[in-house]
Amino acid sequence: MNTVWEDHRWTGPSHLRGTKRTDVCVIGLGGSGLSAIDSLLDHGINVIGIDASQIASGAAGANGGFLLAGTARFYHQMISTLGHERARQLYLMTLDEIDRMQIEMPDLVRRVGSLRIAMNDAELADCEEQYAVMQRDGLLVEYYDDSEGKGLLIPTDAVFNPLARCRRLAEDCMRRGAQLFEYSAAIDIHTGLVHTEQGIIICKHIVAAIDGKLDLLFPALNQRVRTARLQMLSTVPTTEVHIERAVYARWGYEYWQQLLDGRVALGGFRDHAMELEWTHSTETTDLIQNKLTTFLREHLKVHATIEHRWAASVGYTTSGLPIIEEVMPNVWAMGGYNGTGNVIGALCGCGVAELIAGKIAPIISLLRTLT
Ligand SMILES: Cc1cc2nc3c(=O)[nH]c(=O)nc-3n(C[C@H](O)[C@H](O)[C@H](O)COP(=O)(O)OP(=O)(O)OC[C@H]3O[C@@H](n4cnc5c(N)ncnc54)[C@H](O)[C@@H]3O)c2cc1C
Repeated sequence: MNTVWEDHRWTGPSHLRGTKRTDVCVIGLGGSGLSAIDSLLDHGINVIGIDASQIASGAAGANGGFLLAGTARFYHQMISTLGHERARQLYLMTLDEIDRMQIEMPDLVRRVGSLRIAMNDAELADCEEQYAVMQRDGLLVEYYDDSEGKGLLIPTDAVFNPLARCRRLAEDCMRRGAQLFEYSAAIDIHTGLVHTEQGIIICKHIVAAIDGKLDLLFPALNQRVRTARLQMLSTVPTTEVHIERAVYARWGYEYWQQLLDGRVALGGFRDHAMELEWTHSTETTDLIQNKLTTFLREHLKVHATIEHRWAASVGYTTSGLPIIEEVMPNVWAMGGYNGTGNVIGALCGCGVAELIAGKIAPIISLLRTLT
């Protein structure tokens, strides 16, 4: 996909042919599936990973590049879903996951913090509520009133290159013995068996790590997870602005960052065509792209040439929490990160791997008590 992250240097593995046997088959090689594979290898478990297209060809390689602690809902909102103690635990687990990602790939992760910018008084009041609750719970947060507007600064958040991380993780996993296959969609899944067009994988466990379009693979989940399209654009390098941090505005609908080389990447406006954006399509639309262009020019005051426009699929759940579910014996489905899956998706991937290794990861016990 032609995104701000694509460097056209990837020569991935081939597609799957014939019959293979392994302990675990991971379907979907985005950030979550690759984190699961990495963790399975740590436990000495044999693993085969397949992707319908290229590694990280879905949202995992086409996103805004924010590493945000917590879930898609703001911390104080999450408390009403999870309760106080579990919301705090979940927040701390995601903070640890950002730490881990930074330690593993320090050249790809920048701990610059994120901004939540309020676009009106009601949102500013909500920021104040979030500030008070985070302060009370000992989580780092500051008021922000500067070039990007007014709101909150979360100094512990980060930005990264999501595509580069996935590709590096895939290469590491292959070096450590994982067999990965691109252009090998799972077309039929039963306990112990995955069929692709030209191959069969016989395995003890199956993990489907697919955020958007999980409902296509497991139609029984379609009451709980729904696929949406998110759209972005990016510019050529520019010095017109200097945006230091990941910025999240208007209740998180708009988000942007400036890369180190000066390119600006901007996404948002899904709610301006909500019904149309509940779709499995990943084509960009004029309606959303025009909104993004206007915002880039008029709000961000960036007039640099737009280089890329793209869209990808994510899954939204009614609870605001991800799905990790054993949909058939020894078949795990995970996804539905509500537009913010870089950190929690990786955490869930590691959690499922632990479960398969016979341990209960804290993220799994926490989510299992709720879903
Ligand atoms: C425009 C956009 C901006 C975003 N910005 C952010 C952000 O800044 N921060 C953040 O945290 N999150 C963000 N997100 C959400 C985040 O990208 C996702 O939640 C996360 O990447 C999900 O990763 P994943 O590995 O779970 O799933 P996916 O990226 O959906 O990967 C699933 C993989 O499964 C493959 N697949 C699908 N069906 C099959 C099949 N039948 N057989 C085999 N393979 C299959 C796909 O090809 C894909 O490669 C954004 C998403 C989008 C679209």
